[in-house]
Amino acid sequence: MNYDVVVVGGGPVGCAVARDIAAAGYRVLVLEEHQEIGAPVQCAGLISKRALEISRVPSTTVLNRLNGAVVYAPGEKILRLEGKKVYALVIDRRAFDCSLAEQARLTGAEILCGLRAVKFAYVPEGIMVEARGREGKNCFFSCRLLVGADGHNSAVARWLGMHQPLEKVFLYATEVRLSEGNGHLAHIFLDRCLAPGWFGWIFPAGNNRARVGIGSSPLVVKNKRESPRLLFNQLINRYPLLFRGMKVLQNTSGVISIGLLRQTYAAHVLLVGDAAAHTKPVSGGGLYFGLRAGKHCAGTAIKALKIQNLTPDFLSAYQKEWEAAIGQEISTGLKHREVFLEMKNEEIGRLVSFLNKPIWQKLILKYGDLDYHSWLAARLAFVPPWASHFLTAGLRKLSQEK
Ligand SMILES: Cc1cc2nc3c(=O)[nH]c(=O)nc-3n(C[C@H](O)[C@H](O)[C@H](O)COP(=O)(O)OP(=O)(O)OC[C@H]3O[C@@H](n4cnc5c(N)ncnc54)[C@H](O)[C@@H]3O)c2cc1C
Repeated sequence: MNYDVVVVGGGPVGCAVARDIAAAGYRVLVLEEHQEIGAPVQCAGLISKRALEISRVPSTTVLNRLNGAVVYAPGEKILRLEGKKVYALVIDRRAFDCSLAEQARLTGAEILCGLRAVKFAYVPEGIMVEARGREGKNCFFSCRLLVGADGHNSAVARWLGMHQPLEKVFLYATEVRLSEGNGHLAHIFLDRCLAPGWFGWIFPAGNNRARVGIGSSPLVVKNKRESPRLLFNQLINRYPLLFRGMKVLQNTSGVISIGLLRQTYAAHVLLVGDAAAHTKPVSGGGLYFGLRAGKHCAGTAIKALKIQNLTPDFLSAYQKEWEAAIGQEISTGLKHREVFLEMKNEEIGRLVSFLNKPIWQKLILKYGDLDYHSWLAARLAFVPPWASHFLTAGLRKLSQEK
């Protein structure tokens, strides 16, 4: 065998897993299809302090700290939430990924860029990976364990027939320069027409820069005019004052897989990160859940390599561990998402104006957490029935199910 472990995908989660397995003394190879780590950026770069902590990436990658949000809802309803604590960090995502890759290299992992894993086959002692370079030259690598950290369109998951996320959300995201107003509040736009099944956002990134984007879900999109690229233009036109003097510096489209995959392991294989839909169903954020699951992925891998047991039976411990860590939050998030997908514009407007009172603002600021949306939802579930039929019906049901 060439390697103990081949990790397909040099994204943040793949590099973090490679780092931890290599640190235990195993020979680890990371294959990344792009020419460099961290590019192109397909992320708004919003994470919590705890996500930064578990990544072990230095805080020099933090560009801005956000202490609240302004929520824009249909009918000109606005909810302003501004607290004293830091709720979210806006990071330099490219530097973040590069730091994780550097950490992996320092523990001894090898990273090869410009190689796309295209075929996999079981061989007597593990798995043979075929990878294609830019010039069409193919290379072969064998390993005892294959880690699929290859994102939402995972080739490893497709090879195993394991990829069945419930939903794929399509996003269009940009980095822009704004002529003014670079504060510490996120701006979130909720509107069934503007962002069908998802939301729009502005995350100020300091230095008069901001991340602006929007998404839509095929579950609710009815026609082509609702492609995220076109929705982005509608967002800009709808709020001209917020986007005055805007210049788009970079743009990208992207996909987020949402769901709870019940099997993310097979003989000699583990799936992790976006490849395993380790994302938050409400916001689509995947860095924290991916890194959390990555810890369990590396832990199970190290034990399995040590006792040379790479059977599905042994590797299923990984599934149990990551589900214990984030599975409940994902399933609660999926139920919240179901409620959100059913909401009409009038209901979103009513909910936002209802919450726009000091008592609810205080509650949201106290329990709001970027990684654990259920903490706040559990509190909001007890609003009086007259307040919002939708909120109470949906969230009460959730709290009873918990
Ligand atoms: C527009 C957008 C905005 C987002 N904003 C946020 C945010 O603000 N906060 C947050 O937490 N999350 C956000 N996310 C989600 C976040 O980007 C992902 O959850 C995170 O990148 C997952 O990391 P990963 O390592 O699992 O996968 P990825 O980052 O997707 O990395 C997978 C890597 O595998 C490589 N690869 C794929 N196939 C192959 C192959 N066959 N061979 C070799 N290499 C391969 C890819 O090139 C890629 O580098 C956003 C996503 C999008 C699309």
